[in-house]
This record gives sequence, C-alpha cells and structure tokens, in this order.
Amino acid sequence: MSLPLNIDYTDKVVVVSGAAGLICSAIARSFALSKAKVALLDLNEEKVKKIAEDLKKEGLRCEGYKANVLDKDSLISVHKHILEDLGPCDILINGAGGNNPKATTDNEFHFEANDDTKTFFDLDQSGIDFVFKLNFQGTLLPTQIFAKDMLERGGCILNISSMNAYVPLTKIPAYSAAKAGISNFTQWLATYFAKSNIRCNAIAPGFLVSDQNRSLLFNEDGSPTKRSAKILNNTPMHRFVDADELLGAVLFLCDDRSASAITGVVLPIDCGFSAYSGV
Ligand code: NAD
Repeated sequence: MSLPLNIDYTDKVVVVSGAAGLICSAIARSFALSKAKVALLDLNEEKVKKIAEDLKKEGLRCEGYKANVLDKDSLISVHKHILEDLGPCDILINGAGGNNPKATTDNEFHFEANDDTKTFFDLDQSGIDFVFKLNFQGTLLPTQIFAKDMLERGGCILNISSMNAYVPLTKIPAYSAAKAGISNFTQWLATYFAKSNIRCNAIAPGFLVSDQNRSLLFNEDGSPTKRSAKILNNTPMHRFVDADELLGAVLFLCDDRSASAITGVVLPIDCGFSAYSGV
C-alpha cells in the first residue's frame, strides 16, 4: 500500500479499536507505515493478532490485543499492557462500530409492510440497545481510558461517524441515530478538551463494499441490486468508497502540524452522497 500522505508519526502511540475490521485494519496499517507504534484492539482476538503479526513481519511496530470497547475492565487491562509494550496513547481511533439485523426494518416504508415483514413496530429492544451501546458507548468508554494519557502531553481523538448521521438511511434507524450521536459527541469532546491540547474530529464514510454487505449490494452476476442501484444513483460520483480513500483524511486530521486548528469537524468521505438532494 502506498500512502496518500507522507506524515512522520515516529514514536507516536496510536490506539485503534475495531482494528480487525475492514476500515480500521487499513487505518492501523497506514499509521504503522507512517512509523507510529500502533496498538490494534479488537474483540476478535485471533484476527487482530494475525493482522498485527503480518504487520510485524513487514518490520512495522505494533501489537495486537483482545479488547471489548464495552467493558471498562477489559479496556483498563489492555491499557496497562499498551503502556508497558508501547507507551502512553497519543492518538486514539475509535473504530469499533456497526449495525445489527435486529435493529433493521425489512421495508423502507411502512405502507409496503405485510404480515411476514419486520416493521418498525417489531424492532427488538435488545438489537437497538446493541447498536447504541456499540457505536456510542464503544466510543465513549475507550476515550475515558485512553484520553487520560493525553492530558499532560496533548493528543488527538478520531471517531468514525457515517453519512447516515446527516440524513438517516432507510431501514436502519438505530444505527443512523447512534452515528448522529457520534457526530454530536465529537463536537462535545472537541469543546471539552479544547484547552487541554487534545483535538477531536470524526470522519463520516459513505458506502464501502465489504464482505458483510457484498451480497446486499451485488447480484451473483455482478450487477447492482435494487438498493445498490439506488445508492449509486444518489451518489454524484456514482461509485462506492474504497477503504484506502479514507486514509489521507485520517493521517491529515491526526497530525498536529497539518491540522493544528481543526477540532470538532466531521468530514464526509462519501463521493458526494451527503451533498446531493437527489434532484
Ligand atoms: P467491520 O465490521 O469490518 O469492523 C468492525 C470491527 O469491530 C470488527 O473487527 C469487530 O470484531 C470489532 N468489534 C465489534 N464489537 C467490538 C467490541 N465490543 N469491542 C471491540 N471490537 C469490536 O466494520 P467496518 O466496515 O470496518 O467499520 C468500521 C467503522 O466504520 C464502524 O464504526 C462503522 O460503523 C463505520 N462505518 C462503516 C461504513 C462501511 O460502509 N463499512 C460506513 C460508514 C461508517
């Protein structure tokens, strides 16, 4: 992977949650290639350790850790290990997040519903709790643990919102609202830490193609599904976003020299989706 920006992060310790996932494994790698010491955190221990081992084989400085962003004890314990292995956290990337099928309606509009479909009225409370906890508390709790390292020395927090934070996507009310919460919380943190030399920003990615959603976006013959065609028709650049296209913005926003006056922004990286009214 060649980096879009050459920023020297030598000796910075970057903690990345959700680092076994599509987006945050790429973010973790981009910081490691920029000479940072990277702590890769994920619930999926096997996957995150394998990713970290592969990066180490390339001569990059990193460690993989099992961590649950919803469990404070797990975060406290992993924080201790990171302090011993790499040092105090300079940059925190809050990447763990996602939706849950139990919090998703089958139809876009209620008038399309029938007895066999899951409507808004059938949404499961446990699914809604899961989505709000993972996306919101899963950002708040790691920030409580790792931003303490930044209080004396300064630092940077980067959250991952979504373009559905601006205008909600159909079918996924909890995920859209939770990501709107992340955009809001990003501004709150930016203000709270403004005089403590800690900046906080977010990126709001558009649609990426991943293993989880590939079958929802493409038919077996490779043609776009109905929902996928709708997404593309509402995206001025008429294409999906690639995970690597997030990296320039991430490296820029986390660099104190390039982005010294930037705090509290949520940057859409969505091929124009959030700018387009559809008309
Ligand atoms: P992904 O599913 O590939 O990765 C998420 C990772 O988080 C997984 O490795 C998972 O094991 C980990 N995780 C889940 N629960 C956890 C927990 N409790 N503690 C620690 N780790 C946990 O997702 P992704 O597509 O890479 O998304 C990364 C972030 O970007 C998420 O916040 C997501 O909401 C956001 N996002 C994704 C898209 C997209 O199209 N993929 C678009 C906008 C925003």
